[in-house]
Amino acid sequence: MVNAGRRWLCGGLIACCVLLGGCEDAAGPKGASANKAAEATMVRGRTMGTFYSITVPGGFPGGEEALKKLADEKLNTIVSAISTFDPKAELARFNAHDDVTPFPISPLLAGLIEESLHQSKRIDGAMDITIGPLVNLWGFGKDHPRKVPGDYELDAARRLVGADKFELRHTPNEPLLVKRERGVKLDLATIGEGAGADAIAAALDRLGVRDYLVSVAGASRSRGHNPRGELWKIGIEDPTTPDGHVFTTICPLDQAVSTAGSYRNFFIDEKTGRHYSHIIDPHTGRPVEHQTLSVTVVDRAALVTDALDTGLLVWGADKAHAWAERHDMAIYTIEYRDGRPHGRASRAFNQYQRCTQGGNP
Ligand code: ADP
Ligand code: MG
Repeated sequence: MVNAGRRWLCGGLIACCVLLGGCEDAAGPKGASANKAAEATMVRGRTMGTFYSITVPGGFPGGEEALKKLADEKLNTIVSAISTFDPKAELARFNAHDDVTPFPISPLLAGLIEESLHQSKRIDGAMDITIGPLVNLWGFGKDHPRKVPGDYELDAARRLVGADKFELRHTPNEPLLVKRERGVKLDLATIGEGAGADAIAAALDRLGVRDYLVSVAGASRSRGHNPRGELWKIGIEDPTTPDGHVFTTICPLDQAVSTAGSYRNFFIDEKTGRHYSHIIDPHTGRPVEHQTLSVTVVDRAALVTDALDTGLLVWGADKAHAWAERHDMAIYTIEYRDGRPHGRASRAFNQYQRCTQGGNP
């Protein structure tokens, strides 16, 4: 009944093009300093159903093997806390615990939930980690067929969604998660990539690594300079091109950047021809249908940007920009209008575009 569409190219950010060898657009012309690039340690791997990549100019002690080990350890720790696809992961076990008795969790998972709740409040719950029953209903969870649900099922799932449907309790021992109703399911998929990028960046910072670029699908952290000794530049993908051309280029200036898109993971209902994106509006219970194709956020941590980009995408560009101006937040949206993509930067975003020439706003 449905066609599925899913393709990952660094999830809207083209930071990892450095590794794919096609970075002229994003990183400027290759020049005399190309030899320096050879000194970088670069690794690439898979996590969370997508890709990650890391570049450490000047080389990482222990080389590729050590860097990959560090990254995989950090990412696996996050995955074993938040995955809903691995039945052994903490969050999957909490979701399967179909009971309102308290469920002990790790401080790591408690911290990720707490920060997600905090970011969610800033945008009136447009990003909501209790979205799990709706994600499953529309078929974007594990082992659920992609389909357009009926009104009755939709109402039943919506009744399980909302920050008041569970409680995070801090006790002198371990933190506890408590469902207020059976059937509540949490989904931290949207902050996973950001949390992963932050964990790797924190580990590199602790080791004193001064220059790096870490990207976990659509979330990136960077510091210092690229292998050519220039500020890092990353591309924001053009959502309207099948192979993810660079739409505009920014310098992250040591900040976290992430992009949420409604255009890579979706299905088409063959009966109506309508597209259903994996980004769901918690208030309507339905996938978003507006013409905002992606939202990019720049801020101090990728967990923050990754939590906000999804909620701002739920809102759509106009409401997202009104919020960004009120709160002095750096966001960039790409909308589809008159048959082509249009970029829009918030005032606070301009500083990240200044280092690049031209762009494509
Ligand atoms: P992107 O592909 O844009 O990077 P992510 O993979 O970060 O998106 O997050 C999308 C996932 O987040 C969905 O597959 C779903 O599990 C979950 N999700 C969808 N809508 C929401 C929402 N409004 N709030 C929180 N999580 C959501
Ligand atoms: Mg996100």
